[in-house]
Amino acid sequence: MASPHVFSRGGAERVRIDHGHGAQLVDVEGRSYLDAAGGAVVVGIGHGRTEVVEAAAAQASRVAYVHGSSFSSEVLEEYADTLAPLLPLDDPRIYPVSGGSEAVESALKMARAYHLARGEDRDVVIGRQGSYHGNTRGALSVSGRAGLRRPYLPWLTGFAHTSTPYEYRCPYPDTHPGGCAQRHAEALEQQIQELGPGRVAAFIAEPISGAGLGACVPPDDYWPAIAEVCRRHGVLVIADEVMTGFGRTGTWFASEHFGLRPDLLTAGKGTASGYWPLGLAVVSGPVHETLREGGFVHGFTYSHHVVGAATGLAVLRVLERERLVEASARQGERLHAALRRELEGVPGIGDVRGRGLLQGVELVADPETREPFEREERVIERVLEACREHDVLVYPGNGCADGRRGDLLLLGPPFVVTDGEVDRIAAGVA
Ligand code: PMP
Repeated sequence: MASPHVFSRGGAERVRIDHGHGAQLVDVEGRSYLDAAGGAVVVGIGHGRTEVVEAAAAQASRVAYVHGSSFSSEVLEEYADTLAPLLPLDDPRIYPVSGGSEAVESALKMARAYHLARGEDRDVVIGRQGSYHGNTRGALSVSGRAGLRRPYLPWLTGFAHTSTPYEYRCPYPDTHPGGCAQRHAEALEQQIQELGPGRVAAFIAEPISGAGLGACVPPDDYWPAIAEVCRRHGVLVIADEVMTGFGRTGTWFASEHFGLRPDLLTAGKGTASGYWPLGLAVVSGPVHETLREGGFVHGFTYSHHVVGAATGLAVLRVLERERLVEASARQGERLHAALRRELEGVPGIGDVRGRGLLQGVELVADPETREPFEREERVIERVLEACREHDVLVYPGNGCADGRRGDLLLLGPPFVVTDGEVDRIAAGVA
């Protein structure tokens, strides 16, 4: 019996996990599951990495905590120096926090503070329809998921949402093949104009949308067109790489696929691969300089945590030494091909998409019309249950930009997943 004292939102009883190794999880009864979700698209280096645990423990035994506003540490500086060359920003400066939502909150404040320091009172941040950037107030404000936002709408102000590249349900179907990037850029331009020039502080989006619409890869000319509009209007670009960062899409950061050089970047999930709740807000050197000059005041008790830095550093070392970013690219191709093969002709399959080990399967009532299932059918819950019966754990996503319906499976196994495990995931989903 599950403890009644743990806050639970109801639904199916949760599997009690005892331990894990690589891409495998074992429950308290000794049953093994294939962790095709990486928890919540978190675990990149795999479960059971004692060297990471030892690095965290060694740091905690030296000193577990110092306040980041007054003290620094060798481990934090070494972490920043090791990470900086891997980041897709010019002269990056990292601000470690405790997770993705805190990273997004920090980036939003940094964007506004940057403009204030330059004497501009820019009060709007533009996000995208169907997106997800976190559950705190600011992060939910820039998110475009209508269902999550609705109860809190009176609290969510100062934000607008523009169109999302979503090939399977493109808002500009007449442009296909190949013309939608320009239309997305025009939509953003129009929104900036309508809000009034000089009001928009930043544009935030995932380079490849993971959390929102599920592994949607934009066309190659999308990001150059969007970045050009932003630069022309002095709008900062925030790349939310909480899900896509640290190798998940087969490059260190998904921005690299498109030559995107954001002004700010957020990370979380894969940053410490689940071994510590570590998020990052990263700013480019020029943004950092302006924030410093403006006297930017910000911070959480657990910002710049030394154990977080030790854990993040140990994770980076494993990723580099075992060439796991390349593994994510390679096994991602294998998973994509296996899913296409196994799901061919299976009823209810609409789309299989993704890059690296971030893959999405959109489920639809009618593949011809692409009509989603009705919510009452609880399709995603039933599919998760069925996958679990085949000992495969997957992550539920939310397809369909209108935010009301849409069923999506997200697959994000650890990068150490073997060929055989990849094939088992695809077979388990089918
Ligand atoms: N941004 C993105 C793109 C995410 O995927 C998530 C988490 N799903 C968040 C932000 C929020 O991160 P957290 O849950 O760690 O607060």
